[in-house]
Amino acid sequence: FEFFFFFYNRKSAKKKVQKMDKIYLDNAATTPLAEEVIDAMVQVMKVNYGNPSSTHSLGQEAKILIENVRREVADYLHVSPSEIIFTSCGTESNNMIIKSCVNHLGVERIISSPMEHKCVAETVLDMKKRKGVEVVYLRPDHKGDFNLEELQELLKSSEKKTLVSLMHANNEIGNLLDIKKVAQICKENNALFHSDTVQSMAHMELDFSEIPVDFASCSAHKFHGPKGSGFAFVRKSSGLKGIITGGPQERTLRAGTENVCGIVGLGKALELSLKNMAEYSAHIKAIKKYTVEKLSAEIEGIKFNARSAEEDKSLYTVLSLLLPFKDPMIGLKLDMKGIAVSQGSACSSGAAKPSMVMMMILDEEEMQDSTPLRVSFSHLTTKEQIDALVEALKEIAEPFKIEKTNIAHR
Ligand code: PLP
Repeated sequence: FEFFFFFYNRKSAKKKVQKMDKIYLDNAATTPLAEEVIDAMVQVMKVNYGNPSSTHSLGQEAKILIENVRREVADYLHVSPSEIIFTSCGTESNNMIIKSCVNHLGVERIISSPMEHKCVAETVLDMKKRKGVEVVYLRPDHKGDFNLEELQELLKSSEKKTLVSLMHANNEIGNLLDIKKVAQICKENNALFHSDTVQSMAHMELDFSEIPVDFASCSAHKFHGPKGSGFAFVRKSSGLKGIITGGPQERTLRAGTENVCGIVGLGKALELSLKNMAEYSAHIKAIKKYTVEKLSAEIEGIKFNARSAEEDKSLYTVLSLLLPFKDPMIGLKLDMKGIAVSQGSACSSGAAKPSMVMMMILDEEEMQDSTPLRVSFSHLTTKEQIDALVEALKEIAEPFKIEKTNIAHR
């Protein structure tokens, strides 16, 4: 028996080490929890278990923890604490905003784009199907940019009450929207403006006293906080209502006992992000530059999608590549080499299906002969990890080179 356990423990210890050795380059999907976040959450789980709606001191202590985080978030965004509504995630925040705009604010038309995250795209479609809302899409060019004059013309062309929903930083290619300009255009044309800010929150300064956005969203797990914790920014004057009914929590905008532990985790993660923003962003920008240079030097024919490799036009944590060969199994092959990245395309049935974003920015030939890959960084990413990724990609590319040469000689 002891003999068996000796080997079992050795095996599981080895597994743990292997897990830690994994090269994690999928930080746009989610980020590992910061140690300080775990500690803060454990403290809440052990000590602050009171229900924030209870009037006794245990409840009120939990309530104070929540209100402290609300104040911290509001200070970051330069808004009032009453404009921050804690939710379970980015998806819920975006659902709540879009659905309530239609259900409670009389929105009859939504202008959005084919580049949005599914939680926005599907919600907009749902409002079209169930509520008869008119939906208009702004089409991006091959760089993933929108023509803002077209937006202006669209807004002027209809009397219908309109919501514009355009994301700030694209999760697949990293393109950054000029959120301030779009917000101003919407304001001038009496349209409401929602921006999915899930990828950019806590990674850059966002001053909503300067940017007249009406609604925005956040998810803690994108900046080393816990999954299942996020918030919606809801401009005070908007009159938005919640979609979950019940108790009076979150000023009736989001009923249900608050996730105190998750909210405290979000607060700690935000505190760390803001404290270290200059250092982290400088490190990640340098890593991204290094990745672009190294890949360009080592993999012939590689391209970078949309604005992905342009420092001032893309989110510094995301790099979208286009490999010069077609390999739907690339994600799996890299995973077998211990490297976690995202294929940048939804793969639901085993056969890689290109994502809507890729279909928008790539031409037919690129779609046919190349493979998109998303590499996304955090402050924990090292040059050595990038070297390992480049080596792995070179190995994977090798058989395709031989195949190309053979075809050329035929
Ligand atoms: N919006 C964007 C741009 C995202 O990248 C994500 C997550 O991948 C979401 C929304 C959804 O956030 P959550 O995972 O918190 O539901």
